[in-house]
Amino acid sequence: MLMRTYDVIVVGGGVIGSSIAFWLAREGVSVLLLERDRIGYHASRASAGMLTPLAESRVGDPGFDAGVESLELVPALIHEVRELSGIDPEWVASGLLELAFDARSASALGTRAASLERFGCEYLDADQARKQEPRISDLALGALWSPRESHISGERFARALASAAARRGAHFRLGTEVLGLRTDGDRVIGVRSSHDEFSAGNVVLANGAWAGLCNEWLPGFDIPVQPVKGQMVALSAPQPGIRHIVLGSDIYLVPRPDGTLRVGATSEWVGFDTRPTAHATQRLLRAAMHTMPSLADCTFVDTWAGLRPATPDELPLVGPVPGLKGLTLACGHYRRGILLAPVTGWGIAELILNQSVPDMIKCFDPGRFI
Ligand SMILES: Cc1cc2nc3c(=O)[nH]c(=O)nc-3n(C[C@H](O)[C@H](O)[C@H](O)COP(=O)(O)OP(=O)(O)OC[C@H]3O[C@@H](n4cnc5c(N)ncnc54)[C@H](O)[C@@H]3O)c2cc1C
Repeated sequence: MLMRTYDVIVVGGGVIGSSIAFWLAREGVSVLLLERDRIGYHASRASAGMLTPLAESRVGDPGFDAGVESLELVPALIHEVRELSGIDPEWVASGLLELAFDARSASALGTRAASLERFGCEYLDADQARKQEPRISDLALGALWSPRESHISGERFARALASAAARRGAHFRLGTEVLGLRTDGDRVIGVRSSHDEFSAGNVVLANGAWAGLCNEWLPGFDIPVQPVKGQMVALSAPQPGIRHIVLGSDIYLVPRPDGTLRVGATSEWVGFDTRPTAHATQRLLRAAMHTMPSLADCTFVDTWAGLRPATPDELPLVGPVPGLKGLTLACGHYRRGILLAPVTGWGIAELILNQSVPDMIKCFDPGRFI
């Protein structure tokens, strides 16, 4: 039987692979996405779904502009994929409060608020902060208020992107594990999978925390991605509810539309282990109650863990693999994969269509690790 050739094969159907498939299919590029499990089932499902570029990095940091740009893309993108797919990614434009519990942090937040004024950020004293979010602890001295940051369901976002991509003509094979690359000299011409072989002019590795396991496929380049376990807890949200994302001491609280309050998260270098532990649950709950003492009355709903794809400099790898034509990386998004999914999908589509890396994502060039 003749093997069908695609323009692009995407390996991995998390939020990153799904976004890439969507942006490519939207431009009429023929795409096949191969996912060994289900769409959005791994880190994307485990995540807190915060779209918080201002809280995650500082003005001038590499990747700051890409984070802000990605956030800007969200409203129109959500509208488009929701219309096409019928799946609501449950995006909530909540704003964010970052609390300070000592004088030094309060002063640092004041300085940061000033540097972020153009994004509508301001420093609130304790009374003003409590007006925004009455449940915060009496120990909080003040807060940075950031009105433009928001949150979303990572899993629903991935599924909406994938389904919208399918509506635009992208092909999907779920339950299909990619086992290696097919090459011709220094060019990648497709992949070998647990079921079939597939041909394509371009292959994009978007397989999250598992990208580092592909190193044996790549002579001369090591993908520096390691799994970092993140544990989360869900409580039933208290009534009256919490309206904003709250960053407390070593903790964040995200009130989701499903009536739960997500409490996260740990960072553990323990390989591919995703078992939730009693110790982490205890630590998260203690920090949550330190931030908002009245959470002690909430019902415990669930706990889970996922694997963040980490790189040594905590920035993703998005761009061509040096020395191997036709192979592109889109992995290593660490703590910001949900946030960066829009700009990554857009950037990879631009790269493949124009054969050049857009300026916005040049700071994510995999070549920096040679
Ligand atoms: C607890 C926690 C909280 C988080 N909170 C946030 C947050 O608030 N905001 C934010 O922006 N980010 C957050 N993150 C990070 C974010 O979840 C990740 O950066 C993002 O989901 C990475 O997406 P991905 O598509 O690269 O990976 P994944 O969602 O893990 O998808 C990778 C996919 O590749 C598939 N795959 C792997 N190998 C193969 C193969 N050989 N063949 C076929 N398929 C393969 C896997 O099955 C998987 O479905 C959080 C992460 C965790 C764990």
